[in-house]
Amino acid sequence: MKRLLVIEDDLFYCKQMVRAVRRKYPDLLIDTATTMREAETALQKASYDLIVADLMLPDSEGEHIASLVERGHRVIVLTGITDYRSKEQLYRLDIVDYILKSEGDRFEYLLKLIARLENNLDKTVLIAEDSRSARALFSRMLKTQNLRVLTAANGKEALKILESEAVDLILSDYNMPDIDGLDFLKAVRKEHSMIDLPFIAISSDEGNDTVATFLKYGANDYLKKPFSKEELLCRINNTLDTLDMLSQLRHSAITDALTGLFNRHYLYMVAPKLLATAERHPDQPLSLAIVDIDHFKTINDTHGHLVGDRVLRAIAKALKKSVRESDVLVRFGGEEFLVLMPNTDLKRAFIVAEKLRALVDGLQIPLKRQERLHVTVSAGVAQHVPGMGLDPLIKAADDALYRAKAKGRNRVVMAEEAPTKSTKASE
Ligand code: GH3
Ligand code: MG
Ligand code: MG
Ligand code: MG
Repeated sequence: MKRLLVIEDDLFYCKQMVRAVRRKYPDLLIDTATTMREAETALQKASYDLIVADLMLPDSEGEHIASLVERGHRVIVLTGITDYRSKEQLYRLDIVDYILKSEGDRFEYLLKLIARLENNLDKTVLIAEDSRSARALFSRMLKTQNLRVLTAANGKEALKILESEAVDLILSDYNMPDIDGLDFLKAVRKEHSMIDLPFIAISSDEGNDTVATFLKYGANDYLKKPFSKEELLCRINNTLDTLDMLSQLRHSAITDALTGLFNRHYLYMVAPKLLATAERHPDQPLSLAIVDIDHFKTINDTHGHLVGDRVLRAIAKALKKSVRESDVLVRFGGEEFLVLMPNTDLKRAFIVAEKLRALVDGLQIPLKRQERLHVTVSAGVAQHVPGMGLDPLIKAADDALYRAKAKGRNRVVMAEEAPTKSTKASE
């Protein structure tokens, strides 16, 4: 979102709103108008991604909302009305949403709406609904929310679409020919969890246990016809918010907060697949390096923990820039980094680790004023052999690292050849 137009004749209110939006979105260009006449002039000069418009203006008593929507603008309405009928009338106009002026939430809701509209830009909703008019209505509503919309007239069509399209949310009717909403849900849940692909069911079915059945089979939410547009939007937004929260949680669960690198948890998530590939393809060896900062405790003791943290970040950044896209780099422990290298044999892994060592050796980490800090790392590398799990592979690299430390640090040591079965047998 680049440009926002606020049409509001209450100057004080307008100013407060603009200030609140600017605080959160400093790069957003915001223009203001106090009448529709001024707004029209602004609209001629620039194109706006969003308009926040007061319902009552000195030169218009609401007609401008319909006129703006008809011209394809995304409109959020500022209003004082709270009765159901007037709200439904507003929603009939395909506005994004309305904001109650009387509620002193200091524009929290508006900021949430803007964030939602931004997030929706890369989201796709699949609508499965046999009624053409309902399909068109839902479709229009969701497009107003910046969502990409795909439609299907029954479950069968919807399943076909899922084969080739990345969908973030499903909105599905219950009664449909061919495959109904419930069978569609069951088919979806065989492939996708509630977190991967949320499913909101819609039905006018009077059966008392329909809602329970849908929820039991993994629907995230349920709407009973008839429902208001506002309710539909709330449910969709809630589901999308939950989804965003979950993906943030997922991201933080696999990320190291200090360095921004992946963490140990991530390593254990992706390693099994890489090990399996190495097992299946002897010509695609898998190697691992552990890189450990030398005398890091002394750095902390001499310069303090904050400098220690800065060193960790600087080294993480340098390592990240130098490993391949296919390598898995994680912060393995306090001052230990681990690189898992697919398609790399021991010799090649040694060369990579040696490059990383030299890189850190060449770093001049800035401290306060002119001071620069020089740090070194030691590394141990090992190659996976058939039948070896992740932990023994790490242990082999760690033993090599131990020897690198013993030999004087700032060096890379290769693991000894893993004992083969025949040499073991001859012992
Ligand atoms: P060696 O050369 O043998 O590896 O010695 P070392 O001092 O680097 O190793 P040691 O294991 O004795 O100490 C590691 C230190 O790393 C101790 C710990 O306080 C520090 N450390 C671990 N995590 C962090 C962190 O997130 N920030 C900072 N500043 N220090 C950390
Ligand atoms: Mg139907
Ligand atoms: Mg260390
Ligand atoms: Mg250590």
